[in-house]
Parts: sequence; C-alpha cells; structure tokens
Amino acid sequence: MSPDTARMPDLKTFPVPQILGRIVAGKPVPGVTGHTLPVINPATEGQISTLVEDDAAGVDAAVRAARKAFDEGPWPHLDLAARKKIMRDIRDILIANAEELAYLDCLDTGVPLWDIRGRKMGRVAENFEFFMEVAGTAAGETYQQNSAVLTFVTREPVGVAAIIAPWNSPMSLASMQIAPCIAFGNTCVVKPSEHTPVSLFRMIELMNQAGLPPGVVNLVNGRGPVTGSALVAHPGVDLVKFIGGTETGRAIMTGAATGLKKVGLELGGKSANIIFADADPEDALTGALLGIYSNNGQQCLAGSRILVQRPIAEDFMARFAARANAIKVGDPLAPDTEMGPLAFKQHFERVLSFADTARAEGAKIVAGGVRHPDFSKGYYIKPTAVLAPSNDLKVCREEIFGPFASFIVFDTLDDAIRIANDTKFGLVAYAWSRDVRNLMQVSRRVRAGTIWANTPLTREVRAPFGGYKESGIGRDGLHASLEFYTESKTTTLPWDRAPLRPIGTGKMPG
Ligand code: NAD
Repeated sequence: MSPDTARMPDLKTFPVPQILGRIVAGKPVPGVTGHTLPVINPATEGQISTLVEDDAAGVDAAVRAARKAFDEGPWPHLDLAARKKIMRDIRDILIANAEELAYLDCLDTGVPLWDIRGRKMGRVAENFEFFMEVAGTAAGETYQQNSAVLTFVTREPVGVAAIIAPWNSPMSLASMQIAPCIAFGNTCVVKPSEHTPVSLFRMIELMNQAGLPPGVVNLVNGRGPVTGSALVAHPGVDLVKFIGGTETGRAIMTGAATGLKKVGLELGGKSANIIFADADPEDALTGALLGIYSNNGQQCLAGSRILVQRPIAEDFMARFAARANAIKVGDPLAPDTEMGPLAFKQHFERVLSFADTARAEGAKIVAGGVRHPDFSKGYYIKPTAVLAPSNDLKVCREEIFGPFASFIVFDTLDDAIRIANDTKFGLVAYAWSRDVRNLMQVSRRVRAGTIWANTPLTREVRAPFGGYKESGIGRDGLHASLEFYTESKTTTLPWDRAPLRPIGTGKMPG
C-alpha cells in the first residue's frame, strides 16, 4: 500500500519550487547551472524537485552579496526600530504562509504535517519574535574603578555568518540561527541539507520579500563536501554555525581553522533516559516513547538509550513494546499519522542495518527491527526497540538517529549515572522518578548540556542549549546567542584631560 493523499479531501496542497538554486541579494538566481541532484519525497520515493548544486563560484557570489550587505549596507547600523520592524514583518510573512511552508517541509522530510504546522511553525515564528525583542533590550556594560576614565563595553555584529543546517528539522533549526544572526546586525549565507532543501528555499525567498535589504540573508544549495566546505573555507565568512553530525563537525572545525573563524557546533547525541523504579509508570512510559519516536525518531535530543531499573524492567519493556507497536505509522500528510517515513534512502538503510547489528551482537529485539510491512513504497520502518546486555554494544554507542531505542537494565543510582556518562556524547539526559534526590543527583552528575526531569523535550528558548563532550561547542539561548553573534568592544575615555606621563620632555613623574 502506498500513501494516498487523494483520500484526504481537506488537504491543502501547494506547488513545489521545481529548481532549487541559490538565492543571492534577495532573489533566486535564474538559469543556475551545475551538478543536479533529485529531491525525493520519502513517503512516495518520487522526485518532487531538482537541486542545482553551487560550486565554489556560486558560493563566492552568495558570500560577496552578504559581505556587501554587511560592509556597505545599512543592516548592521540600522536603527533598532527599523530592524525590529523588518523582523516583525518576516515573522508575519512566515505565519501568513505557514500552511505552504509546512506542506513543503512535510513532502521533503516525511515528518507528519500536523507536527510541522503546529509545533514547528510556532517555533519558527517564535524565534524571530524572541530575538527581535532580545536585540531591543540588550544592554552594554560600564566600568569606573579607575576614577580618571570611563570604560564602556558595546556589542557589535561579527560579520558574515555561514549557517549550515541538517535535514531533520530544516526550518526550525535554521531559523534558530538566522533570527539571532540578523537581529544582532550580521548577514548570512545559509546552506540547507542537500536531502531537504525545499522548505528553507521557500522560507528564505519569503523572508526576502518581507523587506530585508538585499544580501542580508542568502542561500546556497548542494552537498556538504562541495558547497558546504567551500562556504566554510571562504575568506569572506567570519563565523560558522553548524548543526549536524559529530564527524561533519570535526571537518567543519578543521575547515574553519585556517581563517581562525568563530565556530559554533551543535552535534549528535546518544542520550540516556533513566527510568527509576519509583517513577510514575504512565508518565515515564509516555515520556520514553516521545523521547525516542517524536519527529520520526530523527532528533539530536532523542532519549535513545533507555536505562530502566531492574525491578520494573520487564513490565516497562512489555508496556513500551505494546505502545510502540500501536504507533500509527503512515502518510505524513494524514492527520492521524504519528510517525512518517525516514527522510531518505541511505538513512533508512543505515537505520535498518542497526537491527541486524543488534541481533549479531546478542541484543534482543523488543519491538520492530524491520521495514514496515504495510508499505511497498516509502522509507517506513516499524518503531524499534532492543534490549542490550551491556552499554558496550554498537547500538548503545553510535547515534542511530532513527526510531530505534536501546534498553539497558540498571540496579542502582550510581550504576545509572555511570552508564549515562559512558558515551562520547553529552547533549541531554532524561530522568523519571518520584524521589527528588534521584533527579538532583542526575542533574549534578550526568555530563550533558540539558537535563529533563519528569518531562520530555521541553526546550526553553532563553536557557542555554548545547552539548558537552562530542555533542558540540557553544550554546544557543538568550545570552549564548548574543555572545556568539556579537563581538564585544571595550572603549575607554577620560572624564577630563587625561593624566599623561610627559614622555620625552625630560620631566619625570612624581
Ligand atoms: P550531517 O553532518 O550529515 O550534515 C549536516 C549539514 O552539513 C548538511 O547541510 C550537510 O550538507 C553539511 N555538510 C556535510 N559535510 C560537510 C562538510 N565537509 N563541510 C561543510 N558542510 C558539510 O548531518 P545530518 O545527517 O544532516 O543531520 C543529522 C545530525 O545532526 C545528527 O547527528 C544529529 O544529532 C545532528 N543534529 C544536532 C542538533 C543539535 O542541536 N545538537 C540538532 C539537529 C541535528
């Protein structure tokens, strides 16, 4: 059976942009040429668009436009009120076109439409609204310890940013960077993932129609090692923000090193979700399911290692498997679909291969582990969970980035914390318990950037978000984004004539 959208009479559809090239100085570049890649709908395996890859020359054109808008344009020095008005207009145009953007994103990523329409588009709008307000309230510093002079610290934009986005949530993750980047007066070149270029293309086209001066937000398209690496290495780029896999992060940091560029990396995870025996049984179960199967299982902050305490382990896994098997997998355009297909073919094959790896390593399949039998087309797999005899297995160590949970049974609080920390990653950790001491101990001792206690996936945009260890460098959030997207400048001047040592006059002080 293939997804059949014709059976949904109320579904609003929109045309898909057919050629995805670069957007430079406010407009899609007409007649772009270059290597092409098909853009595939993962629910149907049909081609929906064509990406035209930017080589170094295409990247150069986009960076030059961003450079010009920064070096000569009004944007960095624009009155705050004028910049805020444009940010507000961007938010409004994205809200007005949210149905279209969500539809395009759904066709491209396979994430259920209702989720993109609601949660993700809300997040996109909130990112522009939030950073517009932050830019308006950011304060400077003054120092007066030296009574002869006043020293003050101001914040300035850094310059041209390269923003490189992954495919699992193209618009919300890119807007989390574009919004602070431009709110603080920078300009940028955005590169979407070659697997999901459609919605960001349209989003940036719309943003430019909202009155952004030409060149403030540009876009290039193409594969990472071609277009992405040319962007990172371009001498006109001052800072690089990357959201993606840990190995790619390493390559990006190396590429940015020659130019000593400021780098922010938001990378992968293999986060522990610790279920203590005294946890609320229903909340912990639902939290564990949401933690791994939301966004089709493709999320950096997934609770992909579920650590469950021995006295409840058997019952918890049985209840988990029953609910995982009942998750409605299907057409991402359908209103009752809970989990759509994986985003693209190679990824689908990689995720499925971990089921074989798990079997070969002696793990027990608790749920799924196979391609979904109801679909002859589309990258559908059954929500999967395995029981691993130890945390040393590959399925406990490598980020799978799919609807694939690995259960590990633990005995004591100390065991749970040791296992949670026994990973190269450190993005988030979850804990479920009715004993506040357990939660406080997890908060203190687990080495991860975010701890969610008795609540899953609750991202607070003001709070810092980012990873320990190989999960990243730097943070996003109220102060963290301000810090990343601005330089501080210290200026000192005297209150009166400066008391200068009369050098070269033959008079000595005192
Ligand atoms: P990826 O690393 O394969 O690609 C991410 C982006 O980098 C893409 O645009 C890609 O084209 C580009 N790229 C690849 N090689 C490059 C190179 N050499 N130079 C420059 N750019 C290059 O990641 P992905 O598969 O798209 O996304 C999944 C990964 O992203 C997972 O590891 C996930 O955990 C991570 N992620 C992290 C966060 C976070 O906030 N920490 C959020 C979402 C996703």
